[in-house]
Amino acid sequence: MVALHDKLKHSMYSPVHGDSMSAAEIAPVTYQVTPDIAHHYFHVCMRIPAHADNKVILRLPTWLPGSYMIRDFAKHIVTFSATGTHGALDSRRPDKSTWIIQTDGNGITIRYTVYAFDLSVRTAYLAHEFGFFNPSALCLESLAHSNHPHVINLQGFPLHWDISTGMPKAALPEDNSSNSYAAEDYASLIDYPFLCGELTRIEFSAAGIPHTLVLSAPHFADADALERDLQRICEAQIALFGESGTAAPFASYQFLTMVIGEGFGGLEHRNSTALLCSRHTLEPGSEKEANDDYLTFLSLCSHEYFHSWNIKQLRPKEFHPYDLRHEQYTQQLWFYEGMTSYYDDWMVYRAGVMTQQRFLGRLAQSLTRALRGKGPQRQSIAESSQLAWTTFYQQNENAANAIASYYSKGAVVALLADLYLRSRYPGRSLDDVMREAYQSYRHHGTTLSDLFRLFATVGDETLRALVERAVLSTEAIDLSPLLAAVGIELLPATVDPFSQQPALTPLQPTSVSLGAALQETHQGVTVQRVMEDSPAARAGLAKGDRLLAIDHIEATKGNILRAFQRYQPGDTSTLHYFRRDILVAAELHWQAPVVDGYQLAVRDTEKARAWL
Ligand SMILES: [Zn+2]
Repeated sequence: MVALHDKLKHSMYSPVHGDSMSAAEIAPVTYQVTPDIAHHYFHVCMRIPAHADNKVILRLPTWLPGSYMIRDFAKHIVTFSATGTHGALDSRRPDKSTWIIQTDGNGITIRYTVYAFDLSVRTAYLAHEFGFFNPSALCLESLAHSNHPHVINLQGFPLHWDISTGMPKAALPEDNSSNSYAAEDYASLIDYPFLCGELTRIEFSAAGIPHTLVLSAPHFADADALERDLQRICEAQIALFGESGTAAPFASYQFLTMVIGEGFGGLEHRNSTALLCSRHTLEPGSEKEANDDYLTFLSLCSHEYFHSWNIKQLRPKEFHPYDLRHEQYTQQLWFYEGMTSYYDDWMVYRAGVMTQQRFLGRLAQSLTRALRGKGPQRQSIAESSQLAWTTFYQQNENAANAIASYYSKGAVVALLADLYLRSRYPGRSLDDVMREAYQSYRHHGTTLSDLFRLFATVGDETLRALVERAVLSTEAIDLSPLLAAVGIELLPATVDPFSQQPALTPLQPTSVSLGAALQETHQGVTVQRVMEDSPAARAGLAKGDRLLAIDHIEATKGNILRAFQRYQPGDTSTLHYFRRDILVAAELHWQAPVVDGYQLAVRDTEKARAWL
């Protein structure tokens, strides 16, 4: 932070060798951002310094790192004008994200308005509750000035609002405003999200580094519990990567959290993360029985924090550098999201914030999500990584039958490798793989074969082959022997027969199942998705169908659950449902539920010490 301030001071205001042209080359691009809360608009006034060319090319990214989908942020710009020293300048749009402006080489001013009403961590949101933006949604890039310093100044925000960002405050001699922030170049600029509003700051130090959990109002957070628990998690992660002598990749860190009624999401950045959470998840519950949603919030924080090393620093070679004009394909997301998904709960447990029983319950849920259904039999996680742009990030109702998750199955690969190393090589673990990867590849990036080689380097060729098969093929993964080696038994489990979600604790199996994920809303019970080869599929059910009756009895959630107990495999029922506005009567042939979930039980506490 201090280093950046120093750099900005010297680079911008000290003419290099007394040459005024050199000084002009390193003048900053500035953005003044003003809110129009009622209309959900950010007004931006961008000033571009003088330059040698007679045109300025401006562009907004089409996606942002960490979220692998084309989002075309420029589509939210609703007004645009450019002025130079002699008045208005002509501009044209050669494509969806680019503006070209004819200039005389002098500095120009661009004024534009961005519509901001996407309540997510990815774009921008402005309303009376709070404001949030990623500069990738708000700040046009002047291609001739990408390497110049970039300064954002926030003006006209409500007086009772605070501003939080990981971007360093600008130390500009001519600008005493406390709301100016500076980044060393455009790529840095767009890696610092901003959260504005009535903010609560929960501050703590982890390994001597200042951390802040920032929460938008209103909330009922237990600040003491959050401070204590997050501090432990952060310290555990800094210790994990710091063991080989590397410092944390940030001088301070902020968890920028939009607290809303219902929502969930996170996006990693270089010294902060943008989070979206449901209000009730910030209340920890009792000491004996932690609120699982609270643990999920901590796990989200843990996940995004782990990315500070594993994707923000260490990342696929394909992302050196990022090209935000179009998709960048990589087969490696199973490592960057999968390892991170394994470590998110694992670090919460290791930090002493989650009980062993809860950790194993949540891990079993994750195994179930990763391995059940037809999807993992049809798509490898190398392919799932490669096609993230159009499949994982654009899932439809048939996703469970069609695609694998590089998150959850990547976490299975992590578990497999961790258990293998711990049982074969006492003292070694997946931590060594992460440290080795970070040491060897964080400057230039990894290839897929680099990743596979890591498992041979830290383990052996057998482990490399196991990992390669799990990543490149759709063959079933048998975790039982590896779990048994650390005293854990892998047991079958049924999923929730109504929601089809894996349960945290074992459920009583029902005698039959529909094989469809159902949801109860004020409209009644609707179908969310249908598993292939299930009674629901054979009865013709599809997403959006509204169940009315089973054998002429109203299909409420309670009645459906009772039916799952009453009928036996082979029984037949008459099902009535609405497909949009058409009433359908179908014959339903009940089947026993498919048991494709997992639970984990400790059988040998002595052996389990190698892992838990
Ligand atoms: Zn992630």
